[in-house]
Amino acid sequence: MDRSAPREQRRRSWRPRQLLITRSARDHAHGRAIAERAATLGISVTELPGNQLRLGLPDDERRAYAAAKSTLAVVNAPPSKLRLQPIAPSADWRVDLAEGCPAHCAYCYLAGSLKGPPITRVYANLDEITAALPLYLGQGRITSRSAARAHEGTTFEASCYTDPLALEPLTGSLAALIRFFGAWEADVQLRFTSKFADVSSLLDLPHGGRTRMRASINPPAYHRFEAGTDPVAARLRALRRMAEAGYKVGLTIAPIIAADGWRDAYAALIAAAAEQLRDVPNLDLTAELITHRFTPGSREVLTSWYPGSDLEMDPEQRAEKRTKFAGTKFVYPPELMKDLKAFFHEELAATLPQARILYWT
Ligand code: SF4
Repeated sequence: MDRSAPREQRRRSWRPRQLLITRSARDHAHGRAIAERAATLGISVTELPGNQLRLGLPDDERRAYAAAKSTLAVVNAPPSKLRLQPIAPSADWRVDLAEGCPAHCAYCYLAGSLKGPPITRVYANLDEITAALPLYLGQGRITSRSAARAHEGTTFEASCYTDPLALEPLTGSLAALIRFFGAWEADVQLRFTSKFADVSSLLDLPHGGRTRMRASINPPAYHRFEAGTDPVAARLRALRRMAEAGYKVGLTIAPIIAADGWRDAYAALIAAAAEQLRDVPNLDLTAELITHRFTPGSREVLTSWYPGSDLEMDPEQRAEKRTKFAGTKFVYPPELMKDLKAFFHEELAATLPQARILYWT
């Protein structure tokens, strides 16, 4: 728990009901440290005899979901994860510390990308993950090739398949990666985004100005779509603390949801961000704008996980687009997209002009 945060913003960090650790994950000091930390907190720790995760989930779909979501597995990142992939439009490369997330967002993009029960897996072989990164220095094909963003250096995104801050109190993986980038005397940037707020263990790290944290935010009225995450006011306060600690920071406004009253809701959100970041010395602030979308697959998974959600996911109200993998995704219709885009660009320019918009999608 972050005791230096205001009382109303404190919330106990996530505690899984059980932790499973595979045999090969126990070969790594980082994996053993995660298991020891969990045991100290009273979490049930099971040492698996091999490297297969045997979950023994109940047949009932709801109970299986709940059991998977409350399980943390410590495993080794497979060799395929050590060969990095580009991740447009965020960064040159994706670096994964974990896969899965303990929160329950009704729009979660992971629902369409990760297969199987939504168990959270954290990687024990952090030494192998960081050892792979220098191979990619100067090899970027996304931000490095953008005239507007090449100055960021080779960029590495750590939030593609997880929310790394949600897991940090148990894993310490993000802190280790920030230290790695802090000590890496090269033109590089680590990026992560989060819907969580406990940054206490990150503030004093030797980050070398090579990490950008973004707070992933939405209006408080949409918090009902983000069960298990920290309140948006706490996320913004965390971002301010990171900025005051010399980190580069940003806002990931995502997913932008065009529900009734969206203009007022997002205008108030941007005003709240401006107020929270007011007078931060040497503020280096960006904004990333991502509209809500879904695929047939993610819609099916999400409606089974969150049948009571009133989040609109109606293909009839959407425009259909092809994904880069030849699949289908549903986005807002072109006219609405135009309105949304114009609104966010104007509102940010008027209320938070320090924010450099990195992309709109
Ligand atoms: S915090 Fe992010 S990764 Fe976690 S459930 Fe919500 S959208 Fe998914």
